[in-house]
Amino acid sequence: MREAILIKTGEIALKGLNRHTFEQILVKNIRFRLKKFGKVNITKSQSTIRVEPKEENMDFDEMAQAISKIFGISAFSRTLVTKKNLDVIKQEAVEYLKDQLPYVQTFKVEAKRSDKQFPYTSPQLQQELGGALLEAYPHLKVDVHHPQLTVTVEIRDEHAYVHGAQTPGAGGMPVSSSGKAMVLISGGIDSPVAAYMMAKRGLLLHAIHFQSPPYTSDRALEKVETLCKIVSQYSGRIQFHCVPFTEIQEAIREHCPEELFTLIMRRLMMEIAQRESEKYELQALITGESLGQVASQTIGALGVTDAVAHMPVFRPLIGMDKEEIIQISRQIGTFETSILPYEDCCTVFTPRHPKTKPNLKVVEEAQNAFDFEPLIQRAMDGITLTMLHP
Ligand code: ATP
Ligand code: MG
Repeated sequence: MREAILIKTGEIALKGLNRHTFEQILVKNIRFRLKKFGKVNITKSQSTIRVEPKEENMDFDEMAQAISKIFGISAFSRTLVTKKNLDVIKQEAVEYLKDQLPYVQTFKVEAKRSDKQFPYTSPQLQQELGGALLEAYPHLKVDVHHPQLTVTVEIRDEHAYVHGAQTPGAGGMPVSSSGKAMVLISGGIDSPVAAYMMAKRGLLLHAIHFQSPPYTSDRALEKVETLCKIVSQYSGRIQFHCVPFTEIQEAIREHCPEELFTLIMRRLMMEIAQRESEKYELQALITGESLGQVASQTIGALGVTDAVAHMPVFRPLIGMDKEEIIQISRQIGTFETSILPYEDCCTVFTPRHPKTKPNLKVVEEAQNAFDFEPLIQRAMDGITLTMLHP
């Protein structure tokens, strides 16, 4: 039996005049994400996007999986594509809905007919198909007001379509419809969740990671790359920037007061992330910070870190509890990787008594007492790029 996928756009529908642009971006994202499954035909009508295979034997389970992770989609359903012939429609619908109808008690049929030449009216079609389904599944009852399942039959110019339940989509806005941003990604639980949340709001992601070999291992780096790949199932491919950070961390240890190690390190990360973002015309930074979670995430510490930035810094987790963050990380599939016990550069030189109420002037003076500029330059020159995708 031939199948297609019907996609309902989400918030895009609210965008008024920009709607067309948003839909175009979404269609492009869908096309890109489905490329590996084979050739498809994608068409739009009102708020529905229709994906029809152009090849035989495409893997619809996998395709539906991929679609469930594309932002900008509120719901989707797999649909039977068949001939515009009532007997064929009935016969194939009975078979096609065998995974759904046995599990509900009540249903109704809704007919839509954009081909007005079709010899049955919508009410006739509803009655005919409803009758055939009742005959095949005698436990069913029709409930036109609150059915457990609505079966939709659509007669369009080319074909007839029959589908049952809708699956909720990933929501949000199409990736890249809001712009481009750089996420500072560690191997922890929080930053991958922050990346996911901002991609959901339509940002195309680049990721930057600070690595301090030999204090941090290759496996720690692989872990971060794996996290990006998991996130990229939702965000689409991620340009990954890896910064050699050892020299800077050693200089901090040599030349700065211990209680300010973490703060100065965070400021230098922001500085480098920002310069790299400018190079690639990215418009914001994203971090996984949550207010009060650790010493470097108190309101004062965040102020000291933010003072470096002249582009917006998005912290989508700022008001969330760890438990809530963990819940999302389990749901998107990053949790199991995040908790693997590899060292992060943050944990390498952790001060025993970090400053929780830092003074910006004092931090700036401490940082300026040493000339980090040549080291920043060298770190930037050493950045390696990798394109990561699922
Ligand atoms: P995470 O779970 O994301 O590691 P965290 O709660 O452990 O966060 P910190 O280690 O203080 O918090 O880091 C705060 C934020 O700084 C991270 O969410 C991330 O955005 C960024 N960050 C930390 N370490 C790195 C790193 N090695 N490379 C890039 N960004 C980093
Ligand atoms: Mg961390």
